[in-house]
Amino acid sequence: MSTTKSFLGEKALVIGGSIAGLLAARVLSDFYEEVLLIEKDQMGKKEWTRTGVPQGSHGHALLKSGEEILTELFPGIVDELIADGSVKSDFASELAWNHHGCWKVKFHAGISIIQQSRPFLEWHIKQRLERIPNINFLYGGKVKKLLTNQDNTSVTGVEVQIQEGAVNLHRADLVVDASGAGSNTCFWLKQLGYDAPPKTEVKVDLFYASRIYSTLSPKDYDWGSLLVYPNPPIQTHGGGIFPIENQRWMVTLLGYGVDSPPMTEEKFIKYANSLEQPDVYEAIKNGTPDTDVSVYRFPALRRFHYEKLERIPNGLIVMGDAFCRIDPVFGQGMSIAAFEAMALKKELQKALQKKKRTQISKNAHRRFSKIIDVPWLIALTEDFRFTHTVGAQPFGLGFLKWYVKKVILACASNQKVYGRLINVLQLKAHPISLFTLSTLKAVFVRK
Ligand SMILES: Cc1cc2nc3c(=O)[nH]c(=O)nc-3n(C[C@H](O)[C@H](O)[C@H](O)COP(=O)(O)OP(=O)(O)OC[C@H]3O[C@@H](n4cnc5c(N)ncnc54)[C@H](O)[C@@H]3O)c2cc1C
Repeated sequence: MSTTKSFLGEKALVIGGSIAGLLAARVLSDFYEEVLLIEKDQMGKKEWTRTGVPQGSHGHALLKSGEEILTELFPGIVDELIADGSVKSDFASELAWNHHGCWKVKFHAGISIIQQSRPFLEWHIKQRLERIPNINFLYGGKVKKLLTNQDNTSVTGVEVQIQEGAVNLHRADLVVDASGAGSNTCFWLKQLGYDAPPKTEVKVDLFYASRIYSTLSPKDYDWGSLLVYPNPPIQTHGGGIFPIENQRWMVTLLGYGVDSPPMTEEKFIKYANSLEQPDVYEAIKNGTPDTDVSVYRFPALRRFHYEKLERIPNGLIVMGDAFCRIDPVFGQGMSIAAFEAMALKKELQKALQKKKRTQISKNAHRRFSKIIDVPWLIALTEDFRFTHTVGAQPFGLGFLKWYVKKVILACASNQKVYGRLINVLQLKAHPISLFTLSTLKAVFVRK
């Protein structure tokens, strides 16, 4: 007996072929007869950072929650990544983590993670998408404009500039903007006579400087990964070393409110030596770098409140960094994109059941906003410890900073508390789990 699959529409279109765009395309392929993913760069390589994703040269942690969603969308992908070189490790026993001046207790918390470079991860996801017959790709095409119906109430496609100069029109029933921090949707909405969404911005003035090493200094380590978080408000420098594919190490240095990031080899080493703990410096001072130093400046966290717009054209969805860009130190961006992809799936399922497409944009943005609330709070609680941070503070910030620091310090000796914190930071548990009676006892009755 043959079954006919029902679709929500003929064609969906995704702007941007990075993590959010790839995951959106995967979800849309179950609801539209055809999905077209449009990316302004040429197709990415496994080993290279693309121009459109400059952050790809820097350390990219995939949280456990994000990994689990990836597995749901692409069964077997984690095994494929590991077989090709991703490094699997036990988070709490293999990571040496200095946090607010204390080393965390090491133990087996039962959370394993996989580590690899960002281009490697993106390439593997892309390989899986290529096996899905109703997804097509257009590389080297920059979306310039949204197309709409006569009264601008629904999006009907996009105008794409092909690199040689020609312009193509692509019709679609649904357009997902996953074009990252440089998204043009606010501008396009204004062009169409709509309001741009309200924006919340918190200035942190963060930089990342990264280099890949093939060997570290000849020395034995008792860690698989190393993270020295700054100790604000005084110590604003931090850094870490993480294994990636092909037996190499990603070394990332960072700083908040630092005027001149270390761009040269000499300055990179000198900066590593300025961290509160000597471990990063000791590991790289005689190591062998494979790449030059790449620097990325991250001026501010930024959240567009598309969920608050009273009017938005039907069939337009904004997700990933285009929707909200969060402090990367917490390693949440790709996992947030994964949560949003699953939220989009739920919304599309609902629309299919009810045979009603007009609420997809509004409802999806409401779901995304709820997803962001927790990571946003986690990031800001830490970011406002730096004295130069400027912007809208979360409610109860003083208490949060005070209590979370106590939790963090308790993690130096208490496995239960550290286990709970890990689950919160991996976006697997709500922060409320840090306020249970047993956690409070462990935090306050600490010896
Ligand atoms: C320094 C740094 C470190 C980070 N570390 C982590 C980490 O450890 N863990 C983590 O989960 N996240 C991390 N992030 C965040 C993470 O990179 C993003 O959240 C994640 O890539 C999702 O972004 P995105 O797909 O929405 O956008 P992006 O990755 O920015 O991609 C946007 C894509 O859209 C394309 N594009 C743009 N405009 C157009 C157009 N007009 N037409 C067609 N294509 C277009 C671009 O070429 C690009 O491919 C980090 C970010 C930074 C800056």
